[in-house]
Amino acid sequence: MSDDQGIRARLLAQKQELLDRAAKVRADITRSSGPLEKDFAEQVVQMENDAVLAGIGEAAAAEIAQINRALSRLDQGNYGRCSRCGEAIDERRLRALPYSDRCIRCAAAS
Ligand SMILES: [Zn+2]
Repeated sequence: MSDDQGIRARLLAQKQELLDRAAKVRADITRSSGPLEKDFAEQVVQMENDAVLAGIGEAAAAEIAQINRALSRLDQGNYGRCSRCGEAIDERRLRALPYSDRCIRCAAAS
């Protein structure tokens, strides 16, 4: 059980890092989505940049959601159990991917 504290701290640190990154991305989007350039080619570049930044934000948001789910599994005492088959998730896999909710077999099958 003592290990739960370490896992929780690690998940929270990772979540904070993602939130910081997402905040930076949002700041960049706000800055770059000022008035569009008159030149069409420049407009396209500007829009592509926004799309790339938005993509980073989405990936971070998805990861944050996974971390939140892992944290609530910790609260419920289900952490480290595969959400699909109920088997214990390999420790090495959890170390590499602390918020994974599937064992290697189920992850490979999906
Ligand atoms: Zn499984």
